[in-house]
Amino acid sequence: MILKDEMLDSLLTELSKEQIVYVPKQVNGTTRFAPYVSSDKMKLDQVNTVMPPKDLLFPQTQNMYHYGVEKNSGNMFIDPVIESADQILFGVRSCDMRSFDCLDAAFLTKGYIDEFYQAKRDRLTTIAIGCTEVSETCFCESMGQDPNHAPQADIQLRHGEGGYNVTAQTEKGEALLEKFKPFCEEGEVEVADVHCTLNVDASNIKDNLDILHESHELWDSMSYKCLNCGTCTFVCPTCYCFDIDQENRCKEGVRFRCWDSCMFSEYTAMAGGHNPRPEKRDRVRNRFMHKLNYFEDRYGKMLCVGCGRCIEKCPVSLDITVLIDRANELAQAEETEAAHA
Ligand code: SF4
Ligand code: SF4
Repeated sequence: MILKDEMLDSLLTELSKEQIVYVPKQVNGTTRFAPYVSSDKMKLDQVNTVMPPKDLLFPQTQNMYHYGVEKNSGNMFIDPVIESADQILFGVRSCDMRSFDCLDAAFLTKGYIDEFYQAKRDRLTTIAIGCTEVSETCFCESMGQDPNHAPQADIQLRHGEGGYNVTAQTEKGEALLEKFKPFCEEGEVEVADVHCTLNVDASNIKDNLDILHESHELWDSMSYKCLNCGTCTFVCPTCYCFDIDQENRCKEGVRFRCWDSCMFSEYTAMAGGHNPRPEKRDRVRNRFMHKLNYFEDRYGKMLCVGCGRCIEKCPVSLDITVLIDRANELAQAEETEAAHA
């Protein structure tokens, strides 16, 4: 089934009548997923948005509970704030679709269900678009993802000459496809596969990082230029750490959570003054170990999808693919040395 380019606006307008449709857009000098209003400022030709779509499921700031004392009875109340609405994420790329697997693992498995996340996740429908070009920082193929196809998406679109091939991949996708049909026609356009130009061997990175001890010079050399600004965390589609705080007004208040970053020294500061990760090398090491080692240990997958955002946006060009290459080389050298000892 083909959705011709000139029918895209009509389709999005129709879909927006019943639910919020998030599309990649230029917003306040950056690109992110924002509600569709018109094709004005829509950025479908962009390889990847600067901000990932994780805030649809895990907002940057999210109220969790209202609490207080009822005026008449004087009783305490605690009301959870579970926000949920049918939402469509349109134009998401393969790497960002894979990032939802990571967020699902963190928020919905191992005996823990985050009800705030789940309420949004259950009502999200995803429409992926296969990439038609890659940037020099994209390396999703090295992390096991295909830039042309996101098997996790409810509907997959692939752009070719004059339009998109449309394929439903889940039951949710089949249901939404009915809305597509009046705007589509039979047939298929020819599409061309793209491949990443940045490649790295991540196949043994977890084991190789295990070989390199905590005080290895790798961590000094990788971390010396880091500013601990947290940019890498905020643009990362898989980073999910948050802080919880509250605001009180008279006898009522709200408890909320907001994104946090393990690159900040306060992140691990304890009430008694102790900080288990006092130096930036500890924090940089933790970030990369979490991405490439600890998460795989716990959930069986890496916490990096190769979107390349952290490489592109880091002000001092600290590059996770360079870390992977160096760790591979150093681990191999250590193994060779051990074999000859
Ligand atoms: S974006 Fe770069 S400088 Fe900033 S915290 Fe991350 S690695 Fe360090
Ligand atoms: S660590 Fe960097 S490349 Fe990997 S998913 Fe996060 S932002 Fe993308």
